Amino acid sequence: MTQTLPTKNHQRLQLSALNIPIRLLLGPGPSNAHPDVLKAMNTPSVGHLDPAFLTLMDEIQSLLRYVWQTENPLTIAVSGTGSAAMEATIANAIEPGDVVLIGVAGYFGHRLVDMAGRYGADVRIITKPWGQIFSLEELQSAIATHHPTIVALVHAETSTGARQPLEGVSELCRQHGSLLLVDSVTSMGGVPLYLDEWGIDLAYSCSQKGLGCPPGASPFTMSPRAIEKLLSRQTKVANWYLDMNLLSKYWGKERTYHHTAPINLYYALRESLRLIAEEGIENSWERHQNNAEYLWQGLEDLGMTLHVEEQYRLPTLTTVRIPEGIDGKAVARELLLEENVEIGGGLGELGGKVWRIGLMGYNSRKENVDKLLEVLGKKVKG
Ligand SMILES: *Cc1c(COP(=O)(O)O)cnc(C)c1O
Repeated sequence: MTQTLPTKNHQRLQLSALNIPIRLLLGPGPSNAHPDVLKAMNTPSVGHLDPAFLTLMDEIQSLLRYVWQTENPLTIAVSGTGSAAMEATIANAIEPGDVVLIGVAGYFGHRLVDMAGRYGADVRIITKPWGQIFSLEELQSAIATHHPTIVALVHAETSTGARQPLEGVSELCRQHGSLLLVDSVTSMGGVPLYLDEWGIDLAYSCSQKGLGCPPGASPFTMSPRAIEKLLSRQTKVANWYLDMNLLSKYWGKERTYHHTAPINLYYALRESLRLIAEEGIENSWERHQNNAEYLWQGLEDLGMTLHVEEQYRLPTLTTVRIPEGIDGKAVARELLLEENVEIGGGLGELGGKVWRIGLMGYNSRKENVDKLLEVLGKKVKG
């Protein structure tokens, strides 16, 4: 129905009711939310201090600990997207002058460098070509050189499709008293990740990738070692909204008002995490791996080349090289507008060179791979 709305200068603005196309989101995120998650999100809001909501917050904390495989008491959702949880991690972990060693092998490594610098870190960088990973030897030598307070790595580099192995890194960190900070935005829920077993002190994620939820409520966790550092700070956390000293009093026993939580997003996040718990986290990882392997085979059958070496490939995000003579941007646009299928293009070093195909959360299903191979196949085979 078209309505006529009065505007300030008494002209009339013609607007129809919201009419957004339904797309299959197979790019680097967001991914489609599970229908049950959307249904949960439609539940009418209660107040942010309502006992029913406080119970839901506790449940979110328990479910996050399960999906991340951690016992960290301070495990919460940040109100905001993955970048807000990333900034919460940086803001709470770093004090001005701290030496922070960051592995940069893609776009999100660069974002960590930018954020850490803004919070006064003495940033040291190691780099790799986009699509490669850091070996334990490389990390060991960089840690020995820089003696960092914090080592920051991106587990799942969404810009390249590479999975950075994390086993053994925390042992290297502990030898030098460093904390280990990990971006798990595109791995949580879809890629094996054992926070406690792997000694990860600080981690964050988002809702709209591996968890199959709309964007806006983002997982965050800190180990007791990281909290010790927070409590012994000489300076205030330089970000009021994301200060865990304050936020932990809302999520903890005190229940002190801090900000109005995005209530309905938390409903959605709880349902998405509940669905993962119902499936079982190991089963979710296995499903992502199986569907990714099915996609890789299909892309190779179409004559295409995958960008990342198989053992380091992410099951959640695949980079495939754009065949010679094909306009990658134009194809992605055609898939979107003609087929309602979204895929991503390359960023930075990989700009114009690869497509990025996401199979994340609820979207990691065989029928979606079939659909993608069918519509992309028509474009690359001509
Ligand atoms: C998507 C992403 C982010 C940022 O998350 P937003 O929800 O877009 O703010 C950070 N790191 C990685 C690795 C990502 O893929």
